[in-house]
Amino acid sequence: MPSLQFTAEPSPTSGTEHRPFLFDVIIAGCGPTGAMLAAELRLHDVRVLVLEKDTEPASFVRIVGLHIRSLELMAMRGLLERILEQGRQRPAAGFFAAINKPVPKGLDSAHAYLVGIPQPVIVHLLEERAIELGAQVRHGCAVAGFEQDDDGVTVELADGEQLRSRYLVGCDGGRSTVRKLLGVGFPGEPTRAETLMGEMEVGVPQEEIAATVAEIRETHHRFWLRPVGVGVYSVVVPAAGVSDRAQPPTLEDFQQQLRTIAGTDFGVHSPRWMSRFGDATRLAERYRIGRVLLAGDAAHIHPPIGGQGLNLGVQDAVNLGWKLAAQIRGWAPETLLDTYQAERRPVAEDVLDNTRAQSELLSTEPGPQAVRRLLTELMDFDEVNRYLIEKITAIGIRYDFGAGPDLLGRRLRDIEVKQGRLYGLLHRGRGLLLDRTERLTVGGWADRVDHLADPTAALDAPCVLLRPDGHVAWIGDDQQDLDDHLSRWFGEPAI
Ligand SMILES: Cc1cc2nc3c(=O)[nH]c(=O)nc-3n(C[C@H](O)[C@H](O)[C@H](O)COP(=O)(O)OP(=O)(O)OC[C@H]3O[C@@H](n4cnc5c(N)ncnc54)[C@H](O)[C@@H]3O)c2cc1C
Repeated sequence: MPSLQFTAEPSPTSGTEHRPFLFDVIIAGCGPTGAMLAAELRLHDVRVLVLEKDTEPASFVRIVGLHIRSLELMAMRGLLERILEQGRQRPAAGFFAAINKPVPKGLDSAHAYLVGIPQPVIVHLLEERAIELGAQVRHGCAVAGFEQDDDGVTVELADGEQLRSRYLVGCDGGRSTVRKLLGVGFPGEPTRAETLMGEMEVGVPQEEIAATVAEIRETHHRFWLRPVGVGVYSVVVPAAGVSDRAQPPTLEDFQQQLRTIAGTDFGVHSPRWMSRFGDATRLAERYRIGRVLLAGDAAHIHPPIGGQGLNLGVQDAVNLGWKLAAQIRGWAPETLLDTYQAERRPVAEDVLDNTRAQSELLSTEPGPQAVRRLLTELMDFDEVNRYLIEKITAIGIRYDFGAGPDLLGRRLRDIEVKQGRLYGLLHRGRGLLLDRTERLTVGGWADRVDHLADPTAALDAPCVLLRPDGHVAWIGDDQQDLDDHLSRWFGEPAI
C-alpha cells in the first residue's frame, strides 16, 4: 500500500484508473453508529452512501438507555425533541452495576437524565435524519469486500456490484466484515456467560411478580422481570445450562431458567421475541488503516451492563464526522484524522474496563458480593456516586489536548448565552468561538467556525473555542494564541 500521508483531496473526478467517485464516504452498516455518522458527514456536504445488509429493522426490540452525553449531542444537533417524543425520561442514576443510588448532587449538565427508547426507534430517527440531510441509504446491500489504493476505496457488495468512494467506514457491528477484511486484530476476552432476553406475557398478577423479583434481585443481578406493556414483561435470565448455544432460545428455556432462579416461571407465555447475548469484551487494535476506518461495535464490544455500547458508537460518530469531512473538504490539518483513534480508543478502553468491573460486581460469588456491598456503601459519598455516573454517562471524558485548565479537552455543558442555549448554536456541526471579551475574531476561519461575542455568557473563562463535537479546544483571550489553535484544529485560513 503506497503512502498513507494525506494532503488536500483532489477533485472528485480526478480518479484516473478507476471510475470517478460518486461518493466521498461509503458507510457499511446503518445501525445507530452508521446512521449518526452519515448525518454528521452530511452537515458538511460530504456525499455519503450507507449500505445496510438487512432489509427490515431488527425483530427484537430492546429498550436502550441514552445517557447524558448522547442526549447533549442530540441537543447539539437539534434532535433532542424527536428523541424525547419517542422515549421515556428516567433519573440519571442506578446504572453502575445496577447499584441503586439517588442521582448525585451537582451533575454538570442541562440534560441530566436518561431516556429509555427502543433501539429500532433510535435507529429509525437517526436514519431519517441522515436521509433528510441528503445521505443515500440502501437496504439489502451487504459489503462483502473492498480494496483501497492511493485515491480511494473500491467496495464490493455481496451481489458483485462495485462502488467507488474516497473513504470507507465500517459501522457494521461486532462481527464487522470490514474489520475482518482489514486484518485488524480484535483481542480481548471471549464470551464467558450468555444471557437470555425476551418479551412475553405473564400468567400471574403484577404485585406477586414485583414482590418475588425484588427479593431475588437482592442477590441475583443477572435476572429481571420488568413490565413493558399491559401484561407484557421484559425477561432476562442467565443462559447457563440451557439448550444448544447455536439454536435460537425457546420459551421452554426461559421457563426452565425462571423456575431455577425464582422457583416459578410466572406462567410466561406468548413471547413477542427472544434473543441471546454474550459478554465478550474486545477492542480493535486500530481504528484506521489508510482510507478505511472503524466505529461503534465494529471497533469495540463489551457486555451491555450500564447501557453504554450504543452511546459509545454514537459518540464515535460525532468525533469522527467533522474530521473526515475536513479531510474530504481539503482543510484538515495533517494529523486531524488520526486524532479520531487517539481520542476515542482510550475512551473505549475505559468503557471496556468499567464493564469488566461491573461484571464482577454482578457475580453471586461471596467475594464479589462483599466488594459490591462495600462499593454500595462508598457510593453514599456523593463524590464517588458522581464519579461513577459521570463515567457511565460519558460527561467525565477529557481528551488530551496538552497542558491547560481542567476545562480544556472536556465538553462544555449547554450553558445559557444571549441567543438562548449554547447547543442551539451547534446544529450545523461547525466550530464556535464563544467570546466574552468581544474583541477576538475568527478571521479567515469564518467559513468553518462561528463567532458569538457575548459578555454575559455563563462561562468561567474569557473565551473558549469549541470543536464541532462540543469539546473545548482552546481557552484564553489572546488573538495570536487563538489563531494558532484555529490552525491546529481547523487548518489554514481561507484568506
Ligand atoms: C441486551 C442488550 C442491551 C443493550 N442495551 C444498551 C443500552 O441500554 N445502551 C447502550 O448504549 N447500548 C446498549 N446495548 C449495546 C447496543 O445495542 C450496541 O452497542 C449498538 O447496537 C451498536 O451500534 P452499531 O451501530 O455500532 O452496531 P449495530 O447496531 O450492530 O449495527 C450494525 C449494522 O451493520 C449491519 N451490517 C452488518 N454487516 C454488514 C455488512 N457486511 N454490510 C452492510 N451492513 C452490515 C447490521 O445489519 C446492522 O444494522 C445493548 C446490547 C444488548 C445486547
